[in-house]
Amino acid sequence: MRILLDKFSKAFGAVSVIEDMTLEIGDGEMLALLGPSGCGKSTTLFAICGIHKVSGGRILFGDRDVTSLPPQERNVGVVFQSYALYPHMTVRENIAFPLRIAGKSSVEVARQVDEMAQLVHIEPLLDRRPAELSGGQQQRVALARALVRRPHVLLLDEPLANLDAKLRLEMRSEIRRIQLETGITAVLVTHDQVEAMSMCDRIAIMDAGRIVQIATPTEMYNDPHTAFVAGFLGNPP
Ligand code: ADP
Ligand code: MG
Repeated sequence: MRILLDKFSKAFGAVSVIEDMTLEIGDGEMLALLGPSGCGKSTTLFAICGIHKVSGGRILFGDRDVTSLPPQERNVGVVFQSYALYPHMTVRENIAFPLRIAGKSSVEVARQVDEMAQLVHIEPLLDRRPAELSGGQQQRVALARALVRRPHVLLLDEPLANLDAKLRLEMRSEIRRIQLETGITAVLVTHDQVEAMSMCDRIAIMDAGRIVQIATPTEMYNDPHTAFVAGFLGNPP
């Protein structure tokens, strides 16, 4: 589903963090919000999922204005740096949880959990608990749980930051595969330019609460509009 931030702004008290940001994410697109720590990436993501109330502007999912809806009414899937799995539940119960609170029947829950386990390649792990899984496996479970209600958008906030280098590489391509297979619209927050370049259709580079350039990875690399963008991509003019 197409997502539109229309002149979105966010302040914490008197401190303005985002001012007048307009950003359209196409249906089925995976977009990276890329920029240094503190530039407002997570704040933007939280506004899309509804954890933060916006200070100004509108947020649209398709033609629907969701600006004043709480997170649970927006149907968004979220994966954070820490996987936040329920430690006392099995993998199966973790993935089933969002369906159970939505009141789905046991048959429906079982069917959807199996489908998700297949999608993220964790069928043999369904009866384990999170502590018995590697970081990459935990992140797969977090993805399955985020996707099980068929959300309108998948929001990923530094999802690879806690993984070692090898798993980070593997999960980069796995997250992209899963996004392409499901066709879900996705936003990836990252401070890692290689991650953004290798995983996303377009990159929005942010600096101090503003988007300074938005382009495909190739365009961005070949034609950075500012020294900041060039420096950030490691391709100084
Ligand atoms: P990023 O995700 O790009 O590292 P954030 O969106 O988390 O950046 O933060 C952007 C700015 O907003 C930072 O200066 C941060 O200190 C500030 N900020 C974020 N959340 C809050 C909050 N709940 N209260 C006050 N300031 C905040
Ligand atoms: Mg952040």
